[in-house]
Amino acid sequence: MDMKTRVNGWESPDHELYRTTVRRFIEAEFVPHREKWIEQGYCDKSAWLKAGEVGLLCPDIPAEWGGGGCDFGFDAIVYEELMRAGITSFGSGIQSIVAHYLVVYGTEAQKQKYLPAMARGEIITSIAMTEPGTGSDLQAVKTRAVRDGDHYVVNGSKTFITNGYNADLIVLVCKTNPAERAKGISLLCVETRDLEGFRRGKPLKKIGQKGQDTCELFFTDCRIPVQNLLGGQEGQGFFQLMNQLGRERLIIAISAVASMEACVAATTDYIKQREAFGRKLVDFQTAKFTVVECKTETRIARVYVDKCIEQLIAGELSNEDASMAKYWCTEKAFDIAHRCLQLHGGYGYIMDYPIAHYFADARVGMIYGGSNEIMKELISRSL
Ligand SMILES: Cc1cc2nc3c(=O)[nH]c(=O)nc-3n(C[C@H](O)[C@H](O)[C@H](O)COP(=O)(O)OP(=O)(O)OC[C@H]3O[C@@H](n4cnc5c(N)ncnc54)[C@H](O)[C@@H]3O)c2cc1C
Repeated sequence: MDMKTRVNGWESPDHELYRTTVRRFIEAEFVPHREKWIEQGYCDKSAWLKAGEVGLLCPDIPAEWGGGGCDFGFDAIVYEELMRAGITSFGSGIQSIVAHYLVVYGTEAQKQKYLPAMARGEIITSIAMTEPGTGSDLQAVKTRAVRDGDHYVVNGSKTFITNGYNADLIVLVCKTNPAERAKGISLLCVETRDLEGFRRGKPLKKIGQKGQDTCELFFTDCRIPVQNLLGGQEGQGFFQLMNQLGRERLIIAISAVASMEACVAATTDYIKQREAFGRKLVDFQTAKFTVVECKTETRIARVYVDKCIEQLIAGELSNEDASMAKYWCTEKAFDIAHRCLQLHGGYGYIMDYPIAHYFADARVGMIYGGSNEIMKELISRSL
């Protein structure tokens, strides 16, 4: 949606200026590399350094730890602009989530060590929860961390890890007490450089978001210093994760709405220029009504998500709303991409057309960040 048609309570002139900078940067530095990143299955590390230079990373982390010292609205703008440009290869959402784990739970030493380098793009991060044997049932993770003197010895494997191929720092979900479920989980900050026993697979081949690196990770007797335990206390991991998931879910919803907006814009242009039976497609009622319906639903989603952004900035976003926004917007994003693709006819199936990417990229929104069935399970607790 054009920024001028937006009515919300969180966007100030400073946000607008930042949006312009981000938009120009993405057009100049990311869009020319999009095909290459899709081809190789990950985005270049140099892109992270450039993004760090212009303040795209960690804009809402306090300045004392190297961040931009701004509010979440600035972070939201980055996800909107990435999606607007069709860039799903750059995993800055995960970087932001990890940064917030560190801000909220990290020891002073952990904050100083990691956050400024993350904001500069020198450290790329992942969150490794999912394992080959368990995803939705997070409390059943098997990756084990056993205390041995001033180290933990880590064994296990993870899969589907975003930024896994590039990651320098992994927030690893592991069991420090396997006799417990939630209470047995701890988060370890695993530094991957020169880590003995650590191995990553090649980026997994996906049906969409092909340039986003998504990897398997393997840990065999990896020795992690005890001071890398997030927050310094065992058994807190599950609660730390749960308290931050609202933010992750809203980030997914923000990207979903931006994807809907991009689909509507691309399809509006397309039906105005494509002809059939001697008329423009826009002159067929079915075509224009489809776009009108998609546009209306997109506007509704936008208003809801803007409200959620406002609430997150105010520290008032409920888990219920975060889950509702994630569930509903990701379903709508896929549905709208599907309807808009149909209006492109055969061209909609060809990857040279942005709509094909939006369609394929949207599918995973219903799966990751907690599947939409899990979202409904969470929302049902408030009935
Ligand atoms: C591209 C991509 C990127 C990802 N990035 C990350 C990442 O960075 N870090 C990370 O840790 N993980 C990541 N994931 C993993 C993702 O979060 C999981 O795939 C997701 O949580 C589902 O887990 P699962 O695949 O094991 O499915 P399962 O848990 O096996 O679920 C299979 C099906 O059963 C349903 N189901 C399961 N339990 C219930 C229930 N109680 N009630 C109703 N239905 C249920 C699910 O909704 C799903 O439809 C990523 C996945 C993908 C595809």
